Amino acid sequence: MRNNKAAASAVRSVTVLGATGSIGDSTMDLLRASRDRYQVEALTANTNVEGLAKLAREFGARFAAVADPDRLGELKDALAGTRIECGAGEGAIIEAAARPADWVMAAVSGAAGLKPALAAVDRGATVALANKECLVCAGDFFMQRALKAGACILPADSEHNALFQALGSGNREELVRVIITASGGPFRTWAVADIEQATLAQALKHPNWSMGQKITIDSASMMNKGLEVIEASYLFALAPDEIDVLVHPQSIIHGMVEFSDRSVVAQLGAPDMRTPIAHCLGWPDRIVGPAAKLDLARIGQLTFEAPDFDRFPALRLAYDSLRTGRGATTVYNAANEVAVAAFIGGKIRFGAIARLVEATLNDWIRSGNLAPLSSADDAISVDHAARNKAASLLPQIALKAS
Ligand code: NAD
Ligand code: MG
Repeated sequence: MRNNKAAASAVRSVTVLGATGSIGDSTMDLLRASRDRYQVEALTANTNVEGLAKLAREFGARFAAVADPDRLGELKDALAGTRIECGAGEGAIIEAAARPADWVMAAVSGAAGLKPALAAVDRGATVALANKECLVCAGDFFMQRALKAGACILPADSEHNALFQALGSGNREELVRVIITASGGPFRTWAVADIEQATLAQALKHPNWSMGQKITIDSASMMNKGLEVIEASYLFALAPDEIDVLVHPQSIIHGMVEFSDRSVVAQLGAPDMRTPIAHCLGWPDRIVGPAAKLDLARIGQLTFEAPDFDRFPALRLAYDSLRTGRGATTVYNAANEVAVAAFIGGKIRFGAIARLVEATLNDWIRSGNLAPLSSADDAISVDHAARNKAASLLPQIALKAS
């Protein structure tokens, strides 16, 4: 075991992108518990000026940025009497990421987090990556850019954090497969016809995790697990058939790695995002985490099921788009973001989310649009075009019952 006394005493500068969200909240909670160890460089939010200003004041941040360009005046007023600099608009969020923090939490929701995450990557920062959509959107290009800049990407998503911890038990040549677990979401045992008609309130009732709205809906459709299969592929350079999904309703085992000698190494913990975030914050050492101690005797049973690719087509489409490559995962993510927004807006049924993603992917492939992504701009332009395509297909998908 390492001696981590030296690392524990050094003050670290940190930036939290998406500070007012669910992951942001868990991150601020950890920072709050060790105020003397962290200097907050920058905090960002989308529209929640009040929440952002409150955090910036509490932590004495140097810079606060809100994505909505119309809210600069509001933010300035909310920070009046402090020395906190502030900005508004996408450029200000990118500036927050580019400012010199040692450690950056990338927790913006959706592909909107790509450019800010890249700004942190490009200056060689340590980036705790919660924002899986940016990885799915930019493919392996994101990881290549991190390698080039000497950035350290730490997976904050619980399953990938578990894999990261377990992968250290063997070499690449000894790895057989990784297994990411899935709770199965609120519709795990539901029939297709019921899933089709599920309401927003039902989709937002996750059995184990408390999360932001978009990822909670993605968990109900198992799109979240699909995004995570793609995330695992890009993060750890794994082929699609080296990644398995296992439904585990208790969410205690987060990820496992099987090696050639048939040893399977797993990471366990209570379903609390503060554990993987604490792992990223402390890495390469370990800090004290606030989650409940794991009491397996009280839990009693851990159960497992194979995922159902028919009732949850989003998972099948993730493997398909990963195998297709050449921008298909960017399209998969973009179409899902449009579909989730349409579902929240009451424009489509729950079951139509996966149908819209499938229709957009099929149209994209048929139109001969597949091409390797060689830059962030490539990824962003595919993302925009796929959103437009998905939006144009929306009316016919909305009309079509399953
Ligand atoms: P959330 O909706 O609770 O918070 C999102 C944050 O991003 C907020 O601070 C919001 O203000 C900001 N934001 C949203 N849109 C933005 C935009 N266009 N520009 C700038 N900022 C914007 O979401 P969350 O649940 O915290 O999830 C954040 C990311 O972490 C997602 O990519 C999600 O998939 C991933 N993740 C979340 C969890 C979880 O438990 N919540 C677990 C694993 C991974
Ligand atoms: Mg996850």
